[in-house]
Amino acid sequence: MKILVTGGAGFIGSHIVDQYISEGHDVVVVDNLSTGDKHQVNPNAQFYQCDINSGDLDTIFSNEKPQIVNHHAAQISVPYSVENPLIDATTNIMGMLNLLECCRKYHVQKVIFASSGGAIYGEAAEIPTPETCTPNPQSPYAIHKLIGENYLAFYKKTYNIQYTVLRYANVYGPRQIPSSEAGVISKFINQLLRREQTTIFYYEGEPEGMSRDYANVKDIVQANLLALNGGDGEILNIGTQIMTTTSQLLNTIADLMHLEVKPLRQPPRPGDIRYNCLNNEKAKHILGWKPTLSLKDGLLETIEYFTTRFDEERS
Ligand code: NAD
Repeated sequence: MKILVTGGAGFIGSHIVDQYISEGHDVVVVDNLSTGDKHQVNPNAQFYQCDINSGDLDTIFSNEKPQIVNHHAAQISVPYSVENPLIDATTNIMGMLNLLECCRKYHVQKVIFASSGGAIYGEAAEIPTPETCTPNPQSPYAIHKLIGENYLAFYKKTYNIQYTVLRYANVYGPRQIPSSEAGVISKFINQLLRREQTTIFYYEGEPEGMSRDYANVKDIVQANLLALNGGDGEILNIGTQIMTTTSQLLNTIADLMHLEVKPLRQPPRPGDIRYNCLNNEKAKHILGWKPTLSLKDGLLETIEYFTTRFDEERS
C-alpha cells in the first residue's frame, strides 16, 4: 500500500514509518522538521520537507496519490497550546483541514489519526477511562484534537473517507525529544544523565505528582499497523490501563540508572491533568491490540538509547 505519514520525522511517526517500510509498504513522509529530525526518516521513504498548511501539499498528493494517510504531524505541547492557542490551531486544526481536503481531492481511502487519550478526557469521572466517557478537554491542544476527530467523522459521512482515531496515552521510547513538554520520561533520563535538577509538578495534598498511563512506542506502532486493516470508523484508546505517579516514575528511572534523586516540587502548570489512565478493552476487542512491554523493560531500552546518545555527544 502507498501510505503518506505526516510527522514521519518525529518521535512516534518515524517509528511507524520504519515499521510500515519493513512490512513492505511504500511510504511518503511529509514533515516541516519543526521538532522532527531528517536523520530519523527512513532512507527508503520518500521525504518531503513541507508544512501541512502549505499549498505544496496538494502537489505532493497529486504526484504520490497515497491510499492511506497516517496523520501524526502536530504541535504537541499542552502548555505551549495554552500560551499560544492560535499557533496550535494553525497546525492542529487548519493544517489538518488542509490535509483532509487533499484526502478528499485525491481519493484517499483511509486516515489514521494520532489523537490524545491523555488530554481529551480531562479529569475523567471514570478511571481507567473508556471511550464512552464524555471528553472534557482542558487545553487548546486537547480541544483541537477533539475537533480533528469530529472532522474525520464529517469527512467519512460526507465523502466516504474511512478513518481510525487512536487516542494515545503518554507515549515514550527512543527518539522522543527531551526538550518537549510531552515527554517526561526522556526529559527525566536526560536530566539525570546531565546531573541536572528534576521537578515534579503536583496538586496540593498529592506530593507524588500527577498519575499517568505510559505506553511504549513499540506498542503504539503495532496499533498503527493493525489500523491499516481494522478499526474502521472507530475511536480507540491505546494505553496500558496501568497508572504510575510522576514520583514513582522518577524513582524507577533513577534506580535503573543507579542514581539518587531529589526532585523539586512545583505547583501544576495550566492544562495539567491530575489522573489519566486509559481503558484499552475496545482496542483489544476491535483491533486485536494489546500492550506487550512492561514499563521497566521499556524504560531500560529508553535509558540505553539516551545514554548512548549522551556518550556520543561527549566523545
Ligand atoms: P513529535 O514532535 O516528535 O512529532 C511531530 C512531528 O510533526 C515532528 O516531526 C514535527 O516536525 C512535525 N510537524 C509539526 N508541525 C508540523 C506542520 N505544521 N507541518 C508538518 N509537520 C509538522 O511528537 P510525537 O510525540 O511524535 O507526536 C506525534 C503525534 O502523536 C502528534 O499528533 C501528537 O499530538 C500525538 N500524540 C503524542 C503523544 C505523546 O505522548 N508523545 C500522546 C498523544 C498523542
